[in-house]
Amino acid sequence: MLRTECDRGGVEWRQPCPVDGVTREGDGWRVDTPHGVVRASSLVVATGGLTVPTIGATPFGYRLAAQFGLPVVPTRPALVPLAFAPDALARYGDLSGISTDVEIACGGGRFRENLLFTHRGLSGPAILQISSYWDGREPLAIDLLPGIDAEGWLVDHARKDLRLDTLLAERLPKRFAQQWCAAHGVARSMRELGEARLRGVAADLACWRVLPSGTLGYAKAEVTLGASTRALSSKTMATRDVPGLFFIGEVVDVTGWLGGYNFQWAWSSGHAAGVAA
Ligand SMILES: Cc1cc2nc3c(=O)[nH]c(=O)nc-3n(C[C@H](O)[C@H](O)[C@H](O)COP(=O)(O)OP(=O)(O)OC[C@H]3O[C@@H](n4cnc5c(N)ncnc54)[C@H](O)[C@@H]3O)c2cc1C
Repeated sequence: MLRTECDRGGVEWRQPCPVDGVTREGDGWRVDTPHGVVRASSLVVATGGLTVPTIGATPFGYRLAAQFGLPVVPTRPALVPLAFAPDALARYGDLSGISTDVEIACGGGRFRENLLFTHRGLSGPAILQISSYWDGREPLAIDLLPGIDAEGWLVDHARKDLRLDTLLAERLPKRFAQQWCAAHGVARSMRELGEARLRGVAADLACWRVLPSGTLGYAKAEVTLGASTRALSSKTMATRDVPGLFFIGEVVDVTGWLGGYNFQWAWSSGHAAGVAA
């Protein structure tokens, strides 16, 4: 479809064709490539972010922005799995492949999604989404029993000889329930724990605090945060101070949630620039 539309519009293809450098030439642009020089009155930079370098990601767009005096904020990976700190990895690392429904919050973001344990930490839609809000310092707050009156449920069973992890396994993956109870020193019977302690457990289940040691980086991320473009027109994607220079797509500091919003942004901003350029 894209090729057909481009053919209709008279697009010339040069691919593969790494762009080595860009310079201002009069009112226009000179683009140097191994296949020769291209000159144009407008230049639309669509070189993407830093995610997955093995499929061609480069920092070229950010360098170009800096070259022409555009503000570039520090980049960081987003929509990315997170790594456990060593103690959490030792406890939960062998739960790889297990997932559970959670509500996760951090840095003003809040999502009700699945959380997936991996052999290095946490992933799944809940983690990918919240990773865009995580600043590397604040712990994640994870509600392990979202939408459930955990306190009422636990207190209802307070007089039973049933073990807490066995009860939790009705609503959480069994091995995770066992590990979580062991980590919190509550791998005991409901009767032993008693009502007051169970109220505390309910609060901990509603807010399991996890401080990741980091992200899995650009190699595993879906998008890149950063590359500020406060200097761009939101209507045309043109830089305000450098005539004929446009930035679109992921090189721009716009990051969508999971669900196709990053593709949508790339296409929409491309269309806006294409109409104006
Ligand atoms: C694994 C993965 C899964 C994803 N899943 C989704 C999803 O489900 N939904 C969603 O909305 N988004 C998803 N994304 C994000 C989405 O792919 C990007 O946001 C989108 O492709 C950005 O489009 P773009 O045109 O701005 O940049 P890109 O698609 O990254 O294209 C940039 C191009 O520029 C080329 N380039 C870089 N430097 C140079 C240079 N110097 N010379 C010549 N060429 C250069 C690169 O090789 C690349 O081909 C995913 C990303 C990844 C990595």
